[in-house]
Amino acid sequence: MTSNEQLLMTTKEVRATLSDLDKKHIIHPVASPKRHVSQGPKIIFSEGKGIHVKDINEQVFIDGVSMLWNVNVGHGKKELAQIAHNQMSQMAYSSTFYGYANEPAIRLAEKIASLTPGDLDTIFYTSGGSESNDTAIKLSRFYWQLNGFSNKKKIISLKRGYHGVTVSAQRATGIDAFRNFSGSADPEIFNAKAHLTECELGDKSHPEYPGCIRSMIEEMGSDQVAAVIIEPIQGAGGVHVPPEGYLKAVRQLCDEYNILLIADEVICGFGRTGKMFGVDHWEITPDLMCIAKGITSGYIPLGGVVMNNRVAGTIKEYNDILPHGFTYSGHPTACAVGLKNIEIVEREGLVENAHQMGKELVKGFKYLGDKHEFFTNPRTVGLLAGFDLKKDPSLNVPFDQSTQAAVSIVEECYQRGLLIRCFDFEPGMNIVAIAPPLIIQKEEVETIISIVDDALSVFSKKLK
Ligand code: PLP
Repeated sequence: MTSNEQLLMTTKEVRATLSDLDKKHIIHPVASPKRHVSQGPKIIFSEGKGIHVKDINEQVFIDGVSMLWNVNVGHGKKELAQIAHNQMSQMAYSSTFYGYANEPAIRLAEKIASLTPGDLDTIFYTSGGSESNDTAIKLSRFYWQLNGFSNKKKIISLKRGYHGVTVSAQRATGIDAFRNFSGSADPEIFNAKAHLTECELGDKSHPEYPGCIRSMIEEMGSDQVAAVIIEPIQGAGGVHVPPEGYLKAVRQLCDEYNILLIADEVICGFGRTGKMFGVDHWEITPDLMCIAKGITSGYIPLGGVVMNNRVAGTIKEYNDILPHGFTYSGHPTACAVGLKNIEIVEREGLVENAHQMGKELVKGFKYLGDKHEFFTNPRTVGLLAGFDLKKDPSLNVPFDQSTQAAVSIVEECYQRGLLIRCFDFEPGMNIVAIAPPLIIQKEEVETIISIVDDALSVFSKKLK
C-alpha cells in the first residue's frame, strides 16, 4: 500500500487493519492466544505524555501502572529521545565482549555504584530483568565453584515471587503457571514460604516453620545452597510488602549459613518505593542486586547485576574467559539513556515525589476502604500499591471465582480511562495493583482514586 492510500484510510479502517495484522502475525506475552485471535488487541497505543497514553483512536488513558511498572519518569521525555539520538548518531552500538568498552557503560556503572548501598560496586550488564536474575543465579553458583564449593548450587526463592521467564528466573518464580510453563528445568531451584520473620529468626515451634527458608536450608544442608533470591517487595505476585524485620532476618540467615543473598530490585529499583532501592527501607545490603525496568524507565531495554566486592573480587581473580554475556550487555545507547534517566530522577526529585504521592494514595485507599466493604488490605510503599477485594474481609471470605471481582474493577477503570492491573492466579485471589509514573501529582492521584471509587460502586451494584 502506498503512503497516499494509507492517508486516505479512516482511523477506524487503520485500526481494523492493524488489528487483523496483529492477530495474524503476533503472539502476545501473558495473554490468551486463542482469545487474542478472536478479539484482537485491546489497545493499540500511539502516543504517551507524562502519566497519559493515547491509542490510535485518540482515546486517552491514565497509565496507572507505568505500563509494566517501568515508565518511572513518565512518557514522552524528549531528553531521553535526544540522548538516544545523539548516542546512536555517534556510535549506536558496540560490544563489551573481549574486553571492549564504551564510555556510557563505564559512566553508568560508576553512577550505579554510587547509588547502591554498601559495596555493591561492580555491574554485569544484561538487557532486562529475567536475564539479570539468570545471571545472578549463574554468578552465585560460579562464585562458590571458584571458592571450591562446587556443591553449593541450590537456589531458594519465595512463593508468590516473580523473577521473569528465562529458565532459572522462571523456576525461581513462585507463581505456578509461570514456574511450570513448558516444563523448563533448573532442578536446583526451590520455593520457600514467604515472609515468615519468626521462622527465619529460628522459631522452630512456629506452625508455619516447615517450608520456610531456614527449614529448607537445614533440610538441604547449607553446603548445597548457593543463594536466596527475593524481591524486597513482591510485585507481580500481588504487591506483598514483607513485615518489619523480615529482610534483616533473611540477611542474617544467609550470613549464618554462608549463603549469598540476591535482591531482585527489578520493580523496586530507582525510586518506585519512595527510596532509591527497595532494600533501603530495611537497611540491608544484598550480595547481588538485579536491576532493570526503572534504570531506563522503559525507554530502551537494559538490565544488570550489581555485585558486592566479595563476589566481584572472586570473579575478578578468574583468569580464564568468562563464558557468559549478551550481545547487548553494556549497549552504549541503552546506557546513555540510563544515565540521563537517573539524572532526571535526581533532578526532578522523583524518589521523594514517589514517597509524597504514596502518602496521597494511602489517604485515597483509606477513603475507599471506609466506603466499600469489600475493599481490604491496602498496602502502599511509595508508588507501589495494591489492595484486595474480598466478599467479607472481616471473616476473610473470598469472592466466588465466577464473580471475577478484580477483573471487573480493572475493566470498569479501563472504561473510564484508567489502566491498572489485577492478579487472580490463585483461587479466591482478587488483587488490584496501582503503580503510576513517579512524576504523578496530587490531583492526578485523586483522579485515579475517584475512578477506582466509581469502578467499585458499579461493581457493588452489579453484585446486588
Ligand atoms: N523481576 C521482577 C521483580 C519483575 O517484576 C520482572 C518483570 O516484571 C522481572 C524480574 C523480569 O523482567 P523482564 O520482563 O525484563 O525480563
